[in-house]
Amino acid sequence: MRFAERMARLGTENAFEVLAEVTRLRAEGREIISFAIGEPDFDTPDHIKEACIRALRDNQTHYAPSAGIPQLRQVIAEHIRDTRGIAADPEEVVVTPGAKPILYFAIHALVDPGDEVIYPNPGFPIYESVIRFVGGTPVPLPLVEERDFAFDAERLRSLVTPRTKMIILNSPHNPTGGLLSRADLEVVAELAAAHDLWVLSDEIYSRIVYDGPFTSIASLPGMKERTILLDGFSKTYAMTGWRLGYGVMPAALAEEVARLVTNSASCVNTFVQYGGIAALTGPQEPVDRMVAEFRARRKMMVDGLNAIPGVSCRAPGGAFYVYPNVTRACQRLGLADGRALQQYLLHEHGVAVLPRTAFGSRAAEETEEYVRLSYATSRENIERGLARIRNALAP
Ligand code: PMP
Repeated sequence: MRFAERMARLGTENAFEVLAEVTRLRAEGREIISFAIGEPDFDTPDHIKEACIRALRDNQTHYAPSAGIPQLRQVIAEHIRDTRGIAADPEEVVVTPGAKPILYFAIHALVDPGDEVIYPNPGFPIYESVIRFVGGTPVPLPLVEERDFAFDAERLRSLVTPRTKMIILNSPHNPTGGLLSRADLEVVAELAAAHDLWVLSDEIYSRIVYDGPFTSIASLPGMKERTILLDGFSKTYAMTGWRLGYGVMPAALAEEVARLVTNSASCVNTFVQYGGIAALTGPQEPVDRMVAEFRARRKMMVDGLNAIPGVSCRAPGGAFYVYPNVTRACQRLGLADGRALQQYLLHEHGVAVLPRTAFGSRAAEETEEYVRLSYATSRENIERGLARIRNALAP
């Protein structure tokens, strides 16, 4: 079969390859402990499910406006005001099936062939994929372990050229859990103003923060006008399968993004949007409980990994991932890289982690080896999984 030429430029999330391998091994009867998961292991709170069921019973089963039902856009605008401290109008909100389409649509609406887009590396692989798909030039911004996986300001400055169109930020960050400080954001804001850049701020993990404060770049002076703020319900309310997310951006851009929704999904499931209203306006205790549990697991994970010879792990500021440095463990075991370590852990010891290569290509200068572990799994699994890793890496 021959596909359109552009399909050769579209990437994917190769985390799914590891997930498929885990499924295959389990089908063969192997007992695998998985730290490869990218979603909360909690159930969607009941009051959210009830609101959706009620909407379904009330026959909210027809097309909705492309940008979302007015009540949900209103509630999101208020939520952004309360959590980011900035005024947001419902006209600046676009509701999409998950937050991922905001990335896809905003890049399509703004990036021309040849435009450069700076994005975090390692990072969520969809950034690079969509930049390439539209014919843009992806410009990876290396994250620095010594800076708790923030970027180096001078390095960022050196990457900006007359062709730069956009900088993508993700804080808290997947895969490292790194949180950007206000000072880091100020560097980006200064560059954005000086070079007339857009900032796509992926804040999908903004509610899962341990060593805050969390600051949105949209709240810095002059930045709201050049920021696309991406957030959603998947992680905060354990709603990954609902497919509900949103972007907040200048109204003129919101109209263009809504036009892309009209041309593709038409709209988000109408009754699902009522679940979103309940999530943002209802009790937040379930979220607080989930974050408190993640905080306890983070400590188990960080302490447990640091007790293993050859592994060193920073305490991440947010999200539910740790990104330990496994360079010395690889050397001791004679493994070529983190990918080989991932395969060894999975096949010989029944523990699934994700290799660094699931988060973009390594720069030539990158000498250290890393893997990502998610602690969106039970404390019991964390204990047993850590014991297996300890055993696998025993001197
Ligand atoms: N951004 C990042 C960094 C993510 O990790 C994810 C989910 N894996 C998303 C965006 C997309 O989330 P969703 O489409 O489920 O809202």
